[in-house]
Amino acid sequence: MAVLADAVVVGAGIGGLAAALALSQRNINVCVIEQADKLRNVGAGVQISANGFRVLTALGIGSACLTSALQVRAIELIDHKSTKTVCELDLEKYNKGLVHLMMHRADLINILFKACVDAGVSFLFGERVMSVLNDPKPEIVTASDRYCPEVVICADGVHSVGRKSLLGQVAPYFTGHVAWRALVPNTTDHPDVARIYMGPKKHVVTYPIRDRSVLNLVLIEERDSWAKESWSEQGDSNALRHSFCEFNLGTDDLLSHVHEPYLWGLFRHPVAQKWHAGGVVLLGDAAHPTLPFMAQGANLALEDAWVLARCLSKTSAQETCLQTYQDMRKKRVERIIAVAEGNAWKYHLTFPPLRWAAHRTMWAMSAVMPGRMVGQFDWIYRYDVTAEP
Ligand SMILES: Cc1cc2nc3c(=O)[nH]c(=O)nc-3n(C[C@H](O)[C@H](O)[C@H](O)COP(=O)(O)OP(=O)(O)OC[C@H]3O[C@@H](n4cnc5c(N)ncnc54)[C@H](O)[C@@H]3O)c2cc1C
Repeated sequence: MAVLADAVVVGAGIGGLAAALALSQRNINVCVIEQADKLRNVGAGVQISANGFRVLTALGIGSACLTSALQVRAIELIDHKSTKTVCELDLEKYNKGLVHLMMHRADLINILFKACVDAGVSFLFGERVMSVLNDPKPEIVTASDRYCPEVVICADGVHSVGRKSLLGQVAPYFTGHVAWRALVPNTTDHPDVARIYMGPKKHVVTYPIRDRSVLNLVLIEERDSWAKESWSEQGDSNALRHSFCEFNLGTDDLLSHVHEPYLWGLFRHPVAQKWHAGGVVLLGDAAHPTLPFMAQGANLALEDAWVLARCLSKTSAQETCLQTYQDMRKKRVERIIAVAEGNAWKYHLTFPPLRWAAHRTMWAMSAVMPGRMVGQFDWIYRYDVTAEP
């Protein structure tokens, strides 16, 4: 049985890399095991809101992220057909001082990876973890070896093997939503805002990334089932155009530029009741996958990483530290996930009179009290996990 490090992180996604960096900065010896042969360039854009950005700043990579990201000036909710703005959340005006970023996921992953390497984190790529044991001590089983560190952090996403070991073999359920993702040229001179086009049972999110030459598109639609074995696949751009033909996405026909979209079945678990046992602990989507309708999944994984590292660097017994981590995170995570689910309903209203009334209400509220419309999310964005004792 090999000893890799005191702490082993399974998964080199945003959550796993942030946890590895945070632990290493607290002088904990860390190794990350990742099934892919190298860092993957998938996923296109990601929004990092102020609560997540605070973690990146505390990890010392805030300015690197600022350099490769754009700042969101506003979030606009738009009617999919008329293109009328139903509601505008002016972040620049009402969230002064808060940094809300739009960036390429690969850029964020690369920044985190480089910081990990500089901090002395070691990596094992191309190694798939088959199972994680936690009785009586943590043990990782891969195809080629077995490892027994002091603690195993399972940041291995929604199909987590660590979750299976803690909670039993329960497959994630299909949420009834699929997400198409694509990058297209920014032919519409799209400003630095995130636009959400709302239509019956569907919505589309657009925002620019990198040097504004590229637009990130996320197209969500409701479906009864997800028949495929794999949970993501290369999608057919004609099928995408057909499905969203009623959407008017601005001056150019943005969808005509989509060539190789990816299609994801959105799967979920309920938030785990138990996040740790016997030195094995869950983080990010492994513990609490969410629908992406508040753009908080990666942000929550960053917050988790910070709290977990802080708890583990305390001198108390390891299980006590891990329980503190769970106690500090679970309520907030559950609340944010509930808001994201509510947005699915709000964005996708089908009954025309109800949609009309809901849009009018949103319009009136954002016209009369725009500051309050933005302020309703203060508890998410103004939260500073790095300031907690
Ligand atoms: C369409 C869409 C848009 C989104 N937009 C946003 C957004 O704007 N903002 C935001 O905050 N969130 C967003 N999210 C959510 C966000 O992407 C996830 O919540 C976040 O990436 C979770 O990070 P993670 O590190 O927990 O898991 P993941 O990113 O899933 O990483 C898991 C890693 O573990 C590895 N792995 C898995 N199994 C094994 C194994 N057995 N052995 C070894 N390695 C393994 C995987 O290869 C992967 O590298 C979006 C999600 C979707 C679907």
